[in-house]
Amino acid sequence: MQNTATPTHCPYCALQCGMNLTPAADGSVEVSERADFPVNRGALCGKGRTAPAVLSSSVRLTSPLVRDGDGALVPAPWDEALGRIARNLARIRDEHGADALGVFGGGGLTNEKAYTLGKFARVVLGTSQIDYNGRFCMSSAAAAGTKAFGLDRGLPFPLEDIPRTGCVILVGSNPAETMPPSLRYFTELRENGGTLIVVDPRRTKTAEQADLHLAPRPGTDLALALGMLHLVVAEGRVDEEYVEERTAGWEDARAAAMAHWPEYVERITGVSVPELREAVRLFCEPEAAMVLTARGPEQQAKGTDTVGAWINLCLATGRAGRPLSGYGCLTGQGNGQGGREHGQKADQLPGYRKLTDPAARRHVAEVWGVAPDSLPGPGRSAYELLDALGTDIRSLLVMGSNPVVSAPRAAHVEGRLRSLDFLAVCDVVLSETAALADVVLPVTQWAEETGTTTSLEGRVLLRRRAITPPDGVRSDLEVLHELADRLGVEKGFPTEPEEVFEELRRASAGGPADYSGISYRRLAEEQGVFWPCPAPAGDAAGAKPHPGTRRLFLDRFATEDGRARFVPVSHRPSAEEPDDEYPVLLTTGRVVAQYQSGAQTRRVDELNAAAPGPFVELHPRLAARLGAAEGDPVAVVSRRGRAVAPARITAGIRPDTVFMPFHWPGEGRANTLTNPALDPTSRMPEFKVCAVRLEAVPAT
Ligand code: SF4
Repeated sequence: MQNTATPTHCPYCALQCGMNLTPAADGSVEVSERADFPVNRGALCGKGRTAPAVLSSSVRLTSPLVRDGDGALVPAPWDEALGRIARNLARIRDEHGADALGVFGGGGLTNEKAYTLGKFARVVLGTSQIDYNGRFCMSSAAAAGTKAFGLDRGLPFPLEDIPRTGCVILVGSNPAETMPPSLRYFTELRENGGTLIVVDPRRTKTAEQADLHLAPRPGTDLALALGMLHLVVAEGRVDEEYVEERTAGWEDARAAAMAHWPEYVERITGVSVPELREAVRLFCEPEAAMVLTARGPEQQAKGTDTVGAWINLCLATGRAGRPLSGYGCLTGQGNGQGGREHGQKADQLPGYRKLTDPAARRHVAEVWGVAPDSLPGPGRSAYELLDALGTDIRSLLVMGSNPVVSAPRAAHVEGRLRSLDFLAVCDVVLSETAALADVVLPVTQWAEETGTTTSLEGRVLLRRRAITPPDGVRSDLEVLHELADRLGVEKGFPTEPEEVFEELRRASAGGPADYSGISYRRLAEEQGVFWPCPAPAGDAAGAKPHPGTRRLFLDRFATEDGRARFVPVSHRPSAEEPDDEYPVLLTTGRVVAQYQSGAQTRRVDELNAAAPGPFVELHPRLAARLGAAEGDPVAVVSRRGRAVAPARITAGIRPDTVFMPFHWPGEGRANTLTNPALDPTSRMPEFKVCAVRLEAVPAT
């Protein structure tokens, strides 16, 4: 392997920062600045800078593990481990049918892996029971975007538009902690005279930089957006010409908003009427403005309607589909965008096609060389799939996910995983989920393999192999190839990522997320390519390649008639509201030094030193009522369980709310507490709000 710098991308969040990797003589890997990549211009957060530590971690798995007769996980040869998985999957399918086989993917898998995993589930296993952890990420924004615009691409415009707009409302997003290099876009916005409004129940590091911080009660962002829309109408700020020419459904949405008087919204949200008026003024006065949402409004049992309410605000003010304006979602996971486009989602086929669409089934079946009727229909969503483990679903293959830490009602999910007949997990370390498995397969990591991801901008990127993987590990593509072979499907599961991508191009051709005009060569030569990027007609030699689509919807929306749709929505309470027994609201989120379930970042010393464990953030008044001082252990109890973590006392959180980060397992696992109530459209669980009580924990 070469010892020159290889340009590639970070393995973690959806910003997909560019970086250079250089192998050193001692076997370590150096990260250096890749200033040519425009998104982060060389800047990295601590997670990206230290990402190579996981490559050489002492706890990295380099041999398959199988459960022995005493119940212990012990090293085993690859042949034995793969054979054991194939035999058990075949046995369970024979005994219980194909839908007894579950598959659970991840938003960190490359496009090639996500595509192959979906194909493996449907073609080799014949199961409909596949979904992935991205369901827990941005599915509500995806559902709302599709309803309104006919297409979901997280950001329908590039990040570079942010500093040039007039106002950004960031709803439930804290990029200062989740993707720090992106903060410069908001800083530049303010330097250019634009304004930043942050909507968050906590005074986060991002909120501290805002011109206006609105701190609604958790679970009331929907009412807040409706209150703003009410004022937009009342103050005569509706862009009537735009509404007439480019939208449909305004009258119903208008009527719903007019039922939400500002004073009523103030009572629901805790945001005062003058604050609401100021937010409307800041948003409406400039020529261009944006609303960007993240997990705050999305991870609710009314997440789709909540995002829909913010989209309605954009549509009524003529913001969507116009230069430097619009609605966008800041997707979280590294390949959260691409991961939802290529078929590991319960209801979708590659190219972001619907599994229920006969034409889509015919097209993909032809690429796969199978009969359209042989493809199963839609399966259960992520939480419903996990909840069915040990009942209808008897086995689970997990790739790139750690639901023991990341799923809602996590103790229940852990119990369901334990009740399976058979569990196989592919991972790089013995995650909390892998520790429960019957077979664990050690797989290659980001720097050891080539593949593509699609960033939050819809920019398809090439991650390049920079180092040789250690002996004993194999790629996820090799695992799926070997399992397909052992289950009687000898062809159609290549192990070379570029070969998979070539097939993915064909499978996506003509679909909403059309990648057919993108190639590895183009990705290597350009700084990524934005989808949709169709191939020239007939792929004619010499035809001018499609440049990719940086900005969507400028001429028309992706609906049949080209008009965006208002969706009438109304405020409703959260699935759990505080009561005498559980009087406080819990909301969850991230810290800058950890990523997702922490399976990788908790193995990095520098990150652990910065963020060693969970905490309970609470207001001084709440702490005083509890008699808790800074650092005292506090028990947080919900209807689903109890978590204990040290108190972190700050006036920067609402007095009726506590916050816990969700990166850790064990006693301080925040997701022990969270509510799996699901959004009826996106099937997103209500991670962001549930009712809890606090208990002081006597010092031991
Ligand atoms: Fe990696 Fe995200 Fe940090 Fe960039 S912001 S270095 S992509 S974790």
